[in-house]
This record gives sequence, structure tokens and C-alpha cells, in this order.
Amino acid sequence: MLDRSAPVFVAGHRGLVGSAVLRRLEADGFGDLRTVGREDLDLRDQSAVDAWFDAERPRYVFLVAGTVGGIHANSTRPAEFLYDNLMIHGTVVQAAHRTCVDKLLYLGSSCIYPRLADQPITEEALLSGPLEPTNEGYALAKIAGIKLCETYRRQYGDDFISAMPTNLYGPGDNFDLEGGHVLPALMRRFHEAKEAGDGTVTVWGTGGARREFLHVDDLADACLFLMDHYSDAGHVNVGTGVDLTIRELAEAVRDLVHPGAELAFDTSKPDGMPRKVLDVSRLADLGWTASTSLADGLAETYAWFLEASARGELRL
Ligand code: GDP
Repeated sequence: MLDRSAPVFVAGHRGLVGSAVLRRLEADGFGDLRTVGREDLDLRDQSAVDAWFDAERPRYVFLVAGTVGGIHANSTRPAEFLYDNLMIHGTVVQAAHRTCVDKLLYLGSSCIYPRLADQPITEEALLSGPLEPTNEGYALAKIAGIKLCETYRRQYGDDFISAMPTNLYGPGDNFDLEGGHVLPALMRRFHEAKEAGDGTVTVWGTGGARREFLHVDDLADACLFLMDHYSDAGHVNVGTGVDLTIRELAEAVRDLVHPGAELAFDTSKPDGMPRKVLDVSRLADLGWTASTSLADGLAETYAWFLEASARGELRL
């Protein structure tokens, strides 16, 4: 179990995941949470990261920072996704090692797995085949992050662990229509179509790709669970184990936000991986399973979207 009074660094605290991890740690009684904004610390800069660790001396680190985005952002900005994430993972892991951090959790992504991996995807599928081209840069950086944690554990004995979440959503998501992920993009598109009195909403791709969606509060709960109970080299999948087609997702969002609207499919946009659903038995065997249903999570996220939009606080 982590010591609730020790200093904890949440790297990436303004993002979807980081803000959920902060909420989870606060709720669990952690009293010394350390964060730093991007304007004050460039996580790609090793000497700046070293200076920050020397000054703050965190005992635990949640490494959930990164350059992230949906299929369009990933496929049009592959160099940024590769470079930024490689650097951020390298600097933070190295600084955590040098300052003798007690435990670090590194967050990867289910896109590390081969495009045609057997489904549901087990942890063993890593590096067993070619990656999905639309997010190869991001996936390579994320694989390097896993290997950093593994090798620092093997060579130096550092207690660095890795979790691989499936597609995430929830309060604090990026609702940018071009750069964001499918769920927030569809939610916003249906919402704006309803406001504009428009009866048709466009969905990218064929609608046949299958994805799994995990509420970010469940992910944050799993991260704390792993930090409290898991200390081993192998990365651990985090998901629900349940997937659906993008068409089914679009219908669920439509029924919540703009019932009766028609769907149109823009097949000039890529589907990406044909199917991505994680085998979550390793985490279940450790004692954790997700608890938020997609229906509840969608309703909660839409309520948050409406409030944040009324306050002018949406990331667009
Ligand atoms: P991925 O899991 O890395 O492919 O992440 P995304 O969330 O970006 O895309 C998931 C799937 O949803 C892909 O098959 C997309 O083509 C599809 N999709 C449908 N409409 C949209 C949209 O408006 N935005 C995004 N990002 N994806 C969409």
C-alpha cells in the first residue's frame, strides 16, 4: 500500500487521465499531491525535469502525461506523437530512477498491440506482429515506455509498473472535432446538430470497427489499485473486456443526445484497427474489475459536457 502522506507527482494532471487520477487520489486521502503545468516544465527536457525532481522529491509518480489524440491527429502528426512521448517517458523515468522514487506507474495504451492481434488481446501479444499504421508513432513511443519500466526494474531494481488502458472517455475529455477521439467527437457532433436543427450526423469510417470504452474514473481507480497491490515487470491491461461497433456507439450517443437523428458514414476516413478489445483477466485475477456501464458513463459525460460548455470550460 502506498503511504497516503508521501509526496506524489501526477505528471499530466490537466489531461483526461491526470485529472481523474488527481480526483481519485484526493478522494483516497492523499495529502501531498504535486503537479506542474506545461508552461512551467517541459517534460521533454531532461535537465528541467531533473531540476524539478530535485526540488520536489516525489516518492510516487503517476506518469500519465503525453501528446495524445484520435485517429486523425495520430495519422497526420506522427512525428510529434513519437518524439514528444519518447522524450516525456524517458526524462520522467530517468529522473524517478535518479532520485530514488519508491514507485512509478507508467500508462501506456492498447494501441501498442499488433493490428491483427488475436482478440481479446492478451498482454503477451506485445511485439508479436506489425502495428496499426494510423498510430504507429504513438504506439512505438508507448512500447518504449513499457520497456523503460521493465529494463529499469531489471537493471536497477526500480519498482516501476505499467498499465495499458483501452480507449478512454469521461469528464475532462478533449472535444475537438478533428484532434479528439471518437466518443467526445460524436457527442459534440450530435449535440451541435440538435442545436442547429440538423437531422443527419456524420460518423468517420465504415462504422464497422470495434472498440472498447472505459470510463476514466474506472481507469484512475485501477491505477491506484495497481500502485497499492502490484509490483512486477509485466504490463497489465485495463479495460472492460466488452466492445461494440462504432455504429453501435454512434447509435447510443444519438439516442442520448439527439434521438431520431440519421447517421451518415464518411468512408473516406480510416477505420484504423479493425477491432481492439482487451483481455482483462490478468487484472481481474489481481482483484480489480471496471464498474461503470457504458450507458451510465455516457449519460454522466454528456451531463458534464453540458455543464462545462455552459461555463465555457470545454477543451475544443
Ligand atoms: P483509435 O481507437 O486509435 O482508432 O481512436 P479514435 O477514437 O480516434 O477512433 C476510433 C474509431 O472511431 C475509428 O474507427 C474512427 O474512424 C471512428 N470514428 C468515427 N467517427 C469519428 C470521429 O468523429 N472522430 C474520431 N476520432 N474517430 C471517429
